[in-house]
Amino acid sequence: MRRSLHIKLVLIMVLLIVSLMVVVGAFLMNSVTGYYIDEFYEQMLAAFGQDNVDFVRDLQTATEDEEDGAAMISAVLSLYKGVLGVDDRNRNYFVLDGVTGRCLAGSVPAPEGGVAVTANISTALLGSVGLASSVTADYMDAAIPITRGGRSYIVYILDSRETARSLNTEMFSLIMEALVLGLIISVLLSFLLAKTMVDPIQRLTRGIEEVAEGDFSRKLEVTSGDEIGQLTESFNAMAQQLEANIAELERAEQMRKDFVANVSHELRTPLTNIKSYAETLDGGVGDLPPEMEKKFLGVILNESDRMTHILQDLLTLSRFDSGRSELRLAWFPFAKAVDDTYQAILMDAQNHAHTVELRLSDGLPQVRADRERVMQVMMNIVSNAIKYTPDGGRIVLSAGQSGDRVWLEVDDNGIGIPESDRGRIFERFYRVDKARSRQSGGTGLGLSIAQEIMNQHEGGLYLVDKSEPGLTIRMELPIQGPRKENGHEG
Ligand code: ADP
Repeated sequence: MRRSLHIKLVLIMVLLIVSLMVVVGAFLMNSVTGYYIDEFYEQMLAAFGQDNVDFVRDLQTATEDEEDGAAMISAVLSLYKGVLGVDDRNRNYFVLDGVTGRCLAGSVPAPEGGVAVTANISTALLGSVGLASSVTADYMDAAIPITRGGRSYIVYILDSRETARSLNTEMFSLIMEALVLGLIISVLLSFLLAKTMVDPIQRLTRGIEEVAEGDFSRKLEVTSGDEIGQLTESFNAMAQQLEANIAELERAEQMRKDFVANVSHELRTPLTNIKSYAETLDGGVGDLPPEMEKKFLGVILNESDRMTHILQDLLTLSRFDSGRSELRLAWFPFAKAVDDTYQAILMDAQNHAHTVELRLSDGLPQVRADRERVMQVMMNIVSNAIKYTPDGGRIVLSAGQSGDRVWLEVDDNGIGIPESDRGRIFERFYRVDKARSRQSGGTGLGLSIAQEIMNQHEGGLYLVDKSEPGLTIRMELPIQGPRKENGHEG
């Protein structure tokens, strides 16, 4: 991976530098040539234009008895060399015959075969000023027709563009040097860049490999705030979420196994009892005293009831689990439901010599809920209070409203729940004291069902912390009923 990323980086850098240099070089060289051409024609215009009347007059005015007009013109031009930029090397002037175009004089001797007739010379031969420039030509020239002493001449300035060319050559070699230097720097830089980019990616790859092998223990270090840093952060978050999900799945799987084991165990106990009592009855009918037979039959009936009870609870839970259990929502007075529960358990409580106190806040509202299910939850927690409080105890039912919820707290001074078990009593089949629960017909499913019912109402069922002995359990209901539509108006 390192190699391919590196090669890509080098390629990008090289392409960038080369294209930059080509564009800059072409632009520079073109503007230098353009500048030289413009400068030349501006100079010519200035020299022969209106501003320089003396010069033109000197060129045109012949002295008396003048013999060689061309030599005189050449002499004048020689005086104005500076104005014309004539350096006798790259730029020269010539005086041509205005009719034949033949070279009569010049700052340097005319080239062999005479001065070549250019477009501008042709224009001047026809009597006009030739100042046209050609980008493609390798020279610049200007041809100005002059009449002196009745004869016509052409002042011809020729620039070989050598200055511009040598400047361009110089610039080209400079650009090439810069290009080579730039390439060397870019290759070095790309090494550095590749390292800063590739290292975190390699770390990330190692981390991903570890996670793929199931090791979530190591958190990847986030070393930068750039995209790779963000990727590392996202990866850490993902690994954490994955770990949590796996833990949750394992917990669910364990719970499922426990549940199956619990169901089997819960059903096996009554079945074993039924079987052994039935076998005893089957083996020795007539041998047993009738009251014993009756007692055995009583046990059998009792155990079958228990099994029915467990199976009913399991069916209820399974309906909750599969979402097939719908609430039948209706408005009813909350205080009345609490009072009904109180009345219903009063007898049972008195049988155990408990005192039961009812404390209802004034003005408790109507609530929108499944009355039958809510009553089932209330009955469950109040009968637990009766069951798990030694005879002669005290049970207090208090109900009130806080915000948009109503609540009921059932407080007893019974055996309570050890700290270590408090978190688990809403689990299915969980009982602190299996023997005591079973004795009183408990299945260990009551509170799980109660909590499911409260959750479905978007309410809650909690243990309340208290310092005195016993247990306080609190249920809460939203007055308006659940917001999510998981019920229908009953
Ligand atoms: P059970 O059918 O066994 O009563 P529940 O689900 O109603 O099952 O309760 C689960 C366990 O919580 C009980 O077995 C008991 O150990 C404990 N528990 C419930 N209510 C009380 C209470 N008021 N005081 C002490 N322990 C309680």
